[in-house]
Amino acid sequence: MPKKSVGVRCKSSRCRDREFYCHELTVQDRIEINVGFFRSGQLSDQRNFLASYVDSKETTKKKEGSRKNKTMIYTLPIHEQRKQVCQHMFLSTLGVTERQIRTALKKRQRDGQIAMKGRGGRREAEKVEDEEKRQSY
Ligand SMILES: [Zn+2]
Repeated sequence: MPKKSVGVRCKSSRCRDREFYCHELTVQDRIEINVGFFRSGQLSDQRNFLASYVDSKETTKKKEGSRKNKTMIYTLPIHEQRKQVCQHMFLSTLGVTERQIRTALKKRQRDGQIAMKGRGGRREAEKVEDEEKRQSY
C-alpha cells in the first residue's frame, strides 16, 4: 500500500497533444512510483528525487521580446525510463505539493552554488598564498 494515496490522474487532452506520458501511465505504474518515492521515509531522499526528476528551463518568450521565463519540466521514472508528464500528473502521482518541489529545487541550487564557491574559493586562496610566498623570497 502506498503511504500516501495516489491522486486523481490527468485526463487532459492537451497532454496527449504535447506527447506527455500522462495517458500511458497505468494505475500500477503510479502506485509503484509512489511507493518508491516514500520507501526510504527520508525527507532528504524525497528531495533528491524531486530535484532529479523536476527540471526548470529558462525559455525566452518570443512575444515578449527578451523576457526570460522559467518552464518546469516534470518527469517520472517509468520502466527505467524518464517520461515527461504534466505538473498535475506529477504532483498527484507522488502526493506532493508544488511547494515541496520548489524547496527541493532551491536546495539543489544552493548546494550547487556552495560546492562551486568552495572549489573556486580554495583555488583562489592557494594562488594568493603562493604569490605571498614568492614575494617574501
Ligand atoms: Zn497531463
